[in-house]
Amino acid sequence: MEKGERAASVDQSALIFLGTGCSSGVPSGRCLIQPSDPPCLVCSMSLKLPPLNNPNYRCNTSLLIDYCQINNEHNYIVIDVGKSFREQVLRWFTFYKIPRVDSVLLTHEHADAVLGLDDLHCVKQFHHDVSPIPLYATQDCLDSVVLRFPHLSKKELTKHEVTGEVAQVDWRIIENDCEKPFSASGLQFYPLPVMHGEDYVALGFLFGDKCKVAYISDVSRFPSSTEYFISKGRGRELDLLILDTNSIIVNGNRNTHFCFPETLEAVKRISPKRTLLTGMNHAYDHHKINEYLLEWSEREGTFVQLAHDGLKIPLEL
Ligand SMILES: [Zn+2]
Ligand SMILES: [Zn+2]
Repeated sequence: MEKGERAASVDQSALIFLGTGCSSGVPSGRCLIQPSDPPCLVCSMSLKLPPLNNPNYRCNTSLLIDYCQINNEHNYIVIDVGKSFREQVLRWFTFYKIPRVDSVLLTHEHADAVLGLDDLHCVKQFHHDVSPIPLYATQDCLDSVVLRFPHLSKKELTKHEVTGEVAQVDWRIIENDCEKPFSASGLQFYPLPVMHGEDYVALGFLFGDKCKVAYISDVSRFPSSTEYFISKGRGRELDLLILDTNSIIVNGNRNTHFCFPETLEAVKRISPKRTLLTGMNHAYDHHKINEYLLEWSEREGTFVQLAHDGLKIPLEL
């Protein structure tokens, strides 16, 4: 990573990939403590390179939107705070000098999307500001999270809690409906309901006026209305698609996520200007797969690459 990339963008919005890995993360703990013969190349390599220089070191999928408004004021919006959220803050918030989080959006309530909620207190505005962080989620997601983190929705805080050592959030209910947009920290988002397994709906989000971006981290099938909304909705083609590609092999994900061939089929149908893939398990060797994707992109006329943790994409929102 070049030094210049980490300079804070004073007057431009950016996306920062806080995590691009599957639920268990990469390297897989199992590959390191019970190595196969021959050992898993991606996981064994992860011990030889520092995470900063290793695109095969992946935390749970999460995206930070650094939203620069017309008055050059920055707002920081995070999509999902999974099991590895604390590590992601230590690595990327410090690297890119991100001072706080202003809003959180949840795609669904699985562990790799919500288990970092308890660490939100360390990224909220400093303790003299006691207002809770707005957290956008569906009612089902909220109900499930509140069962696991009852203190997050506590109305009355003790003096110790007010000093900022306990996370407190301001729940904002959103709907499973592309036609019900909402605004978070000044940026408008359209919920994108997608199947994450045939009996479960997760959300992606579409955002950006100048640059139209769709983020879908957990999907096994697009309902036709959602796919239409992403590709043709709001009268504009998609500039950037960020899409799940959990496993390389078909059925390697028990049909709760896209595998690589399904992801590429979806990219061809949606036909965005550019696609970055996320949610990869340890079967993806970053440089090798990206070389293959360069050839594929040339052949298909649409640009696709794997994202990696810490990747920063400046853009106009
Ligand atoms: Zn492995
Ligand atoms: Zn999930």
